[in-house]
Amino acid sequence: MEGFLLVVSGPTAAGKGTIVKELLKIRKDVVQSISVTSRYKRINEEEGREYFFKTKEEFEQLIEEGQLLEYATVHGNYYGTPKKFVEENIKLGKVVILEIDVQGAQQVREKFDNQVSVFVIPPRKIDIENRLRHRVTETEEMIKIRLETAEREFDQIKYYDYFLVNDYVDVATKRLENIIDEEREEREKKYD
Ligand code: 5GP
Repeated sequence: MEGFLLVVSGPTAAGKGTIVKELLKIRKDVVQSISVTSRYKRINEEEGREYFFKTKEEFEQLIEEGQLLEYATVHGNYYGTPKKFVEENIKLGKVVILEIDVQGAQQVREKFDNQVSVFVIPPRKIDIENRLRHRVTETEEMIKIRLETAEREFDQIKYYDYFLVNDYVDVATKRLENIIDEEREEREKKYD
């Protein structure tokens, strides 16, 4: 049986990356799509691990060739999901995680029935700013832009199937696992 797309969004520094990483460690049936981006590579990042890093021109080439499932401009940079990886893994029965912004999530919602979306939020709003300030890779100007984006992103929560409060990573990861199990079960029932 086919897998499905699991869209994970949430304001910057809500901790969605950590939850996804934990989930990948414990679930063999879940894979994560690595996005393509035109943003600069942070010191702690590696090509092909966090992202495939491209120039603006290379990214625009991928758009033209129809190689992206969705793409958006976030904080002034392009981000997109390579189509091939997602299609192949869904066919193999995997749950494919797309950690993407609210604009990308909207495109996926319009194009695919076979998707579930989760919005990750920190327990307190102030945590977003605190976590961002801990990230030394960000300048003050970038922090400001990211906080403004977070405000706008919160308005989109109503379009998601689930929201997930990231209070404790292990608890939040377990909740995400439960969502996957429930969604799988529902799909299996339909095809019985
Ligand atoms: P960051 O620069 O912090 O790695 O990511 C910034 C934002 O871009 C995050 O909200 C992240 O979810 C989003 N993002 C990452 N990859 C993609 C993608 O492939 N498509 C879209 N639409 N957003 C993405």
